[in-house]
Amino acid sequence: MARIIAIANQKGGVGKTTTAVNLAASLAAAEQRTLLVDGDPQGNATSGIGLSRDSFEETVYDALLDPTRVSEAIRRGVQFKHLDVLPATPDLAGAEIELVNEDERELAMRRALERVRESYDFILIDCPPSLGLITINMLAAADSLLIPLQCEYYALEGLSQLLNTVHLVQQGVNPSLGIDGVLLTMYDARLNLSRQVAADAREYFGAKVFDAVIPRNVRLAEAPSFGKPIILYDVASVGAQAYMGVAKELIERNS
Ligand code: ADP
Ligand code: MG
Repeated sequence: MARIIAIANQKGGVGKTTTAVNLAASLAAAEQRTLLVDGDPQGNATSGIGLSRDSFEETVYDALLDPTRVSEAIRRGVQFKHLDVLPATPDLAGAEIELVNEDERELAMRRALERVRESYDFILIDCPPSLGLITINMLAAADSLLIPLQCEYYALEGLSQLLNTVHLVQQGVNPSLGIDGVLLTMYDARLNLSRQVAADAREYFGAKVFDAVIPRNVRLAEAPSFGKPIILYDVASVGAQAYMGVAKELIERNS
């Protein structure tokens, strides 16, 4: 039975999509049956893993509006034998509005993923940079949250909104939602600031912070334009090694 992990932070540009794509690829390469769910209408995880718009018709939008369609929307064996992808297109933005009138509108994603979770070891959801109904659906469907934290000014201050939302979801539709981990991203060991944010995060979140830290690495920024996860683009890069380290920790934590 899959562990369902939502990768969320309402701030944009902190490494959510980079983490979703590369962690999913690293897990699949380690023979974990993995489903990558693109939960962002920008569809960056979809293109980043190498799916082009003409290679699918159904998307996460269809699965949200009709959970019985989730299987049809999943693309199988994407780049890796063990990697499946539930893609997104800009249509997904419409779901935010269309779901509002549905009963139990927060539970659509959970209903969809319940239908497929037995087929996977991990389901990773790339969340959009907002705390709207799509993100609430993703948090309602998840066992836990993985928060990428960019090693920048105000990184921790920005988290209070996210943690409030997590609290509301816990009090409402998903009491067992946990925080699986905080992942330090775009770390630059030469900068005092990076070291300070890392130290603060470890003080606040303790052992929830992954030992592996994602360095700022230009190879990670280049890979999506080739439609490749970093381990297929440049496996020797520090970025690839770092994400493989996170995957290893997740597998260990989960076994
Ligand atoms: P989010 O999904 O949170 O908006 P992204 O994963 O799209 O963030 O990352 C924002 C930008 O930063 C992208 O252009 C991405 O390629 C780049 N990026 C992400 N992580 C790194 C990293 N560790 N080193 C260098 N560039 C990165
Ligand atoms: Mg993103």
